[in-house]
Amino acid sequence: MVVSGQKLAWTGPCADAGLDGTYGRTDTTLTWTFATQPTLGSMEVRTRPAESSTGDLGSALTGGFGLVNWRRHAIPVHEARSYEVVLPRPIGNRIALDVDLVVDQPDGPTCVMPLFTKLVHAEADEDERRLSVPAGIVLDRSRYADLTLPEPTVEALVHAFAEYRGPNGMGDDEPDYEAWRVWDGKVIRDYDAELRHFLFGDALDLGDWEAAALMLEVLAALHPDLDPRFATTIDEVNLPQFHPLCERWILDGDWMGDADPRSDQQPCQRSRNGAYFSEASTQEWYGYPDWRRSRGFLYHNSWVVDADDLTREDAWPDWPLGGTVNNPCCSINFHEASHAMGLEHNYCAYSAVSRWDGLPYMTAPWSADDLAGMAIHLDPRTTHGMDIRQAADALGIPRDARFDELVANPWRACGRQDPAWTAFADLIFARHVSSANLGTNHPDDRTPILYDR
Ligand SMILES: [Zn+2]
Repeated sequence: MVVSGQKLAWTGPCADAGLDGTYGRTDTTLTWTFATQPTLGSMEVRTRPAESSTGDLGSALTGGFGLVNWRRHAIPVHEARSYEVVLPRPIGNRIALDVDLVVDQPDGPTCVMPLFTKLVHAEADEDERRLSVPAGIVLDRSRYADLTLPEPTVEALVHAFAEYRGPNGMGDDEPDYEAWRVWDGKVIRDYDAELRHFLFGDALDLGDWEAAALMLEVLAALHPDLDPRFATTIDEVNLPQFHPLCERWILDGDWMGDADPRSDQQPCQRSRNGAYFSEASTQEWYGYPDWRRSRGFLYHNSWVVDADDLTREDAWPDWPLGGTVNNPCCSINFHEASHAMGLEHNYCAYSAVSRWDGLPYMTAPWSADDLAGMAIHLDPRTTHGMDIRQAADALGIPRDARFDELVANPWRACGRQDPAWTAFADLIFARHVSSANLGTNHPDDRTPILYDR
């Protein structure tokens, strides 16, 4: 594919900025030539997932991979007027890119010129499809082989199905009991055995990888048939995790077309927590056939505090200008992975999916409740789509007065799991805090907090 002689057409204040010229491409090698030598401060090529122009800001159409392909590639400014740049492959190699040329002039505006849309790289070869984890990341899937896991209990079952939809609280506050239920429609979240995880994104750090290895080791203990591993090729991945940096330019765009930025969904978040689990890529109607075996994807982004952030109403006093905001590394990975393994939000103490916020408990690795609940979803006897009654029957848990009591008052399950789960959670916690790359403010004293109402 060769395109040549296109006219650089800058708009707005950039129309008369002395940036005239032509551009083109040969496949994914981009070329441009300025008519006269411009004075440039800096220059870069930006990419966006092409699907974003259709409003698919969550990148469901690309199995989430679009989310890590909002990228900037700096182009060193040189003396000659002509440039030739090989556009790097998209991360994950599964998506079409929209490509902009962006220049900064020392005393002028930042100028953006859309070059190409839906640009697709050639099929990756075997080498390019191979994935390898960073040096030092070790996955020992037999780490917990000596553990004997307890049989499912009604407390575990209820924790697996209950969801707290109340406001975040500070831990000392009572939960909003009305908002804590086994809601209609909640079912077992399970998929075919076999789990191939991998992490993608420019903001990944070693802690993300360590947390992922720890997570896979735990899942291997909970459900060996899941065969959880890091993927070794891009084609194997069925539960990717994305960790990009959310930069301000990514948020530029009137996505809803109504000139009101508040109405817009954004491709990433510069708030306290830009993190979620998306099941969307498993949905057939998204038409992403490679991902029907997927559990969806995990996402979280970091962002760097700029001067504008410090003037925000929701700014935190300890935000450092130029510092990176994220959770203590990398507890949010456990939170989102809990959702992928079937858990909803709760208000239990020390849970990775708790609504306790503001306090560091939100940043926990998996608790006894979490482990017991995930084991219900992952149990080979429960299958995708079962409701709580079907799951109880499948697991041989009697639907007796205690079952009815806990379904009606699910908070009473918190902190009342089999002691073997507490022992397992303690092992996970010890391993988590022994790592130099992982952090948590999770307290050493994790005496169960029981809600007896
Ligand atoms: Zn959540």
